Amino acid sequence: MKDYKSILQKYWGYNSFRGIQEDIINSIGNGQDTLGLMPTGGGKSITFQVPAMATEGLCLVITPLIALMKDQVSNLRSRGIKAIAVYSGMTREEIITALENCIFGDYKFLYISPERLGTEIFQTKLRKMKISFITVDESHCISQWGYDFRPAYLKINQIRKLLPDAPVLALTATATPEVVKDIQLQLNFKKENVFKMSFERKNLAYIVRNTEDKNKELLHILTHMSGSAIVYTRNRKGTKEIAQLLYKNNISAEFYHAGLSNDEKDLRQEKWQKDESRVMVATNAFGMGIDKPDVRIVIHMDMPDSPEAYFQEAGRAGRDGQKAYAVLLYSPHDKSILNKRISDTFPEKEYIRKVYEHVCYYYQMAIGDGFDCIYEFNLDEFCQRFKHFPVQADSALRILTRCGYIEYIDEQESKSRLIFTVRRDELYKIHEQDASTEQLIQTILRNYTGLFSDYAYIDESMLGRQNNLTRQEVYKSLIYLSRKNIIHYIPGKKTPYIRFTQKREETDRLVIPQSVYEQRKESYTHRIKAMIEYATSESRCRNRMLLKYFGENSMQNCEKCDVCLRRHQSGVKTGEFENIRKQIIELVGSYKDKQPASILSTLNVEKDKLREVLSFLIHEEEITVCDGMISVHKENKD
Ligand code: ADP
Ligand code: MG
Repeated sequence: MKDYKSILQKYWGYNSFRGIQEDIINSIGNGQDTLGLMPTGGGKSITFQVPAMATEGLCLVITPLIALMKDQVSNLRSRGIKAIAVYSGMTREEIITALENCIFGDYKFLYISPERLGTEIFQTKLRKMKISFITVDESHCISQWGYDFRPAYLKINQIRKLLPDAPVLALTATATPEVVKDIQLQLNFKKENVFKMSFERKNLAYIVRNTEDKNKELLHILTHMSGSAIVYTRNRKGTKEIAQLLYKNNISAEFYHAGLSNDEKDLRQEKWQKDESRVMVATNAFGMGIDKPDVRIVIHMDMPDSPEAYFQEAGRAGRDGQKAYAVLLYSPHDKSILNKRISDTFPEKEYIRKVYEHVCYYYQMAIGDGFDCIYEFNLDEFCQRFKHFPVQADSALRILTRCGYIEYIDEQESKSRLIFTVRRDELYKIHEQDASTEQLIQTILRNYTGLFSDYAYIDESMLGRQNNLTRQEVYKSLIYLSRKNIIHYIPGKKTPYIRFTQKREETDRLVIPQSVYEQRKESYTHRIKAMIEYATSESRCRNRMLLKYFGENSMQNCEKCDVCLRRHQSGVKTGEFENIRKQIIELVGSYKDKQPASILSTLNVEKDKLREVLSFLIHEEEITVCDGMISVHKENKD
């Protein structure tokens, strides 16, 4: 038996494991493929970090977000543990050095982004490493059914084939029963093996407010409550407008979205984190990796696309265990907006083909050409030229990406890239630039290879450091060289790009498979419907609804959400409610077959109250009434 606990104490200084941490650790420690489900903040990292420390070899950690990866690596290092990260955006040499370190140094953790898994260099080096086990963080990203599917995750299977003896530990905070199954299937689990802890957040009250005037309601809530808050809204412009509205009403607020520069984002997050600003108004770009325990309220102005996303975002309230609120503002109009999102996200196939054709015209690409070509892409300009709506065009491009024709990368991940447009021998003949530009070219050539035939990702800050230049100065020089047609430079500004992953296909021969279109549309629709149901139900405890969505059958009402509170007001007290419910279930459940509903009249309960509890139980599918006959729902029988 390995002594996991003393490792936990030695490196992390914690006295004991939480909840199911120990079960997960024992399972992966015994070499079994394992899936661990814990809500965000539950403590998933410990479940792979501790067993990795107890096992010989290196733990390979696959995780999608570079910022979180860097965070974890520096966190481990601060505990004296050797860890390293490899991600897109590092130079080839940096990557090689990192990977060699993993072969020859005594590293314990190699963090890698899924996009890197398929590269030859990684796979070659991996063969020489001694891997203890593979950790797949955010493992729901491997499932097409999940709300955050990332195609690059499918490459994990190649890695499993290369390392047949390494067991896999999959972790996630959001998983419906279907996704739980799918993760294990996609990751080739030898045997099903799931550990799950309850997703119930006992200190969190879920509230839905039906209102025609959301801004007014928002102000009302924030002026009647104190404490740190997050306000989520869907579009970027909205974040600024709402922040201004709050400001005018003497509520300090910041706004945040993916279009801001990293420096700006960090600054605003810090102000909010330190309580210099009370409210953060943000798109869903805000959230991952935030660890502010005393958020008292999370308010959604618009509905997210799925209960998974809602649960994740709302769950940022009350991490400290103190009472907190998750409020969704809903207006009757929202239902049609949400339904429209389905057709926006999955435009007609003919339309998708049209967009493909227009992209090819846009770059003047002939049929059969274009393989591996990469271009900057300006969605607005494209839409203006070809008369598309940006939302649908964007969706079409994403679908084409999943089909494998193009790679459409939006702003968050766009790194600077450059290629030389002159031949190497020509380059040496050009001598018009000043000494510092000359030196910069030399540094580029030293750091990156293959630049005369292919784009390379570059890092202006690093080039700056090596040349005693600021980032801005490097940028200016590269723009200058671009104008002189010496290089082609795509700055890492927030512009998306398109890469053709196949040569141009004839439009009517484009294949849009079911797995990319019909199946995904179906599960997207299912999630939207569940979200609408959550917002519009007037009789079901919101906490139970969410838990049920995640496959948990909780028998208790939370007594905190708006539905429960309203039920209280309606006259049936909690204890009384439970009592009546128990009587009904016991009476009806005591029969094997359906009974006439009239048997309920034998219960000694006031009619109104009986009716109220009954309608609740029918809605909750605890009992079934059909043609005047009543029976207990199968799941509740024992
Ligand atoms: P998750 O990945 O599930 O969202 P993290 O792994 O980031 O959660 O952990 C959340 C927080 O809980 C971290 O600050 C971590 O240090 C803390 N934590 C995890 N396990 C324990 C434990 N056994 N005892 C005390 N704190 C813990
Ligand atoms: Mg985590």
